[in-house]
Amino acid sequence: MSSVMPLKRKIDLQYQDLVTPQRFQVYTDRQLDKIKPLRKLPEAARFAMQVVSSVLPFRVNQYVIDELIDWQNIPHDPIFQLTFPQAGMLAEHDFARMADALRAGDKQQITAVAQEIRAGLNPHPAGQQLLNVPKLGEDTLDGMQHKYRETLLFFPSQGQVCHSYCTFCFRWAQFIGDKEMRFSAKEASQLHEYLMQQTAISDLLITGGDPMVMKTSHLVNYLEPLLKPEFEHVQTIRIGTKSLTFWPQRYVTDDDADELLFLLEKLVKAGKHVALMAHYNHWREMETPIARAAIRRIRDTGTVIRSQAPLLNHINNDASVWATMWRTQVRLGIIPYYMFVERDTGARHYFEVPLAQAWQVYRQAMQQVSGLARTARGPSMSAGPGKVEIQGVSEVNGEKVFNLRFIQGRNPDWVQRPFYAQYDDQATWLDHLKPAFGEAHFFFEAEYRAMLDNAAYD
Ligand code: SF4
Repeated sequence: MSSVMPLKRKIDLQYQDLVTPQRFQVYTDRQLDKIKPLRKLPEAARFAMQVVSSVLPFRVNQYVIDELIDWQNIPHDPIFQLTFPQAGMLAEHDFARMADALRAGDKQQITAVAQEIRAGLNPHPAGQQLLNVPKLGEDTLDGMQHKYRETLLFFPSQGQVCHSYCTFCFRWAQFIGDKEMRFSAKEASQLHEYLMQQTAISDLLITGGDPMVMKTSHLVNYLEPLLKPEFEHVQTIRIGTKSLTFWPQRYVTDDDADELLFLLEKLVKAGKHVALMAHYNHWREMETPIARAAIRRIRDTGTVIRSQAPLLNHINNDASVWATMWRTQVRLGIIPYYMFVERDTGARHYFEVPLAQAWQVYRQAMQQVSGLARTARGPSMSAGPGKVEIQGVSEVNGEKVFNLRFIQGRNPDWVQRPFYAQYDDQATWLDHLKPAFGEAHFFFEAEYRAMLDNAAYD
């Protein structure tokens, strides 16, 4: 039984007239024809959506359709690109194969073609299955990842979907039923036991899917026990979420919104640092009255909101979009935290931006904002060996190079160590880069390969 008592908070007066409760209504690939604004699109465009959503996951809710997408600006609208499948998200030959299968109408063929195409889209990037799975005694804990010494990632089973799906999602495979990709833990007790044993863990990151799709009572079961003295070492609780964009009602008008805010406040008052790691791709996501009300209410609990997002072609590949987003966030009390490089999975060819260009976008955006918005790190690749940041482009003894550093590493000793790669204006990921200055390998490669070998035989 939850010990969190309902706390009736009044919606801020300035939003009172603008925010009315809304029922959560969601559409998947089977209900594309029920989405009214799509009916105005040409038949070919609607068929293309059907083709792509037969391979990649699709889910969108009525709030996104009604309030975030500018239907006068289709297909270029960034939120439309963020949520609706586009023909270019599949390679031409894959698109043609799925289109043929759909026209033939053979269910078995459609499933077989979808599986083949998915297998070619690197569904399991960055060695997640192999390297990061923690153990309790002989039991592996497949709802958790322990990649960096001080941080534990936890994937609660009730939080493995999202209020809508992003078209570029790096966890896309878990949404189409790939069980290997579905990290999810059923047992709060396993989480607590592991945390109790691992006193080097200072940060718990609850992630998904989106943990904020869970009822507050589930969050209470996971989080409230951390107030006991044996969890004193767990100082920070981070919650990764895109609910501030896709369903801000979660914090304002949902039935258990007040209980959720009360839980956050209770954790903060007990001395925990509670951080909402908000996924924002575009400033437009923060423009609606309910999105603003949600931000205000969360901040009132003492919870810190930090923002992070990948740089994506078709959505935010523009320095002024980032500058406006970071400025808006600072005004609303959100701390800009990360610009990521699009991961090497799914529809990456549609969204990817070369590293050299990504650095230019980051740099130009930084030049347009004041110091308080320059807290965003990046562009950063969450690669197998760790988080690698592109710090710049230099010329050293006549050789053009990328300056790189580990922001986070599998070996803590790698962190903050500068290293250099040959400049390559086409490279889009760490494994495209070659060491500079005639070196045969990057300094971390041998050790990382040994980690992979050990894990394989573990
Ligand atoms: S909110 Fe996150 S996990 Fe969910 S679809 Fe978007 S990127 Fe993927």
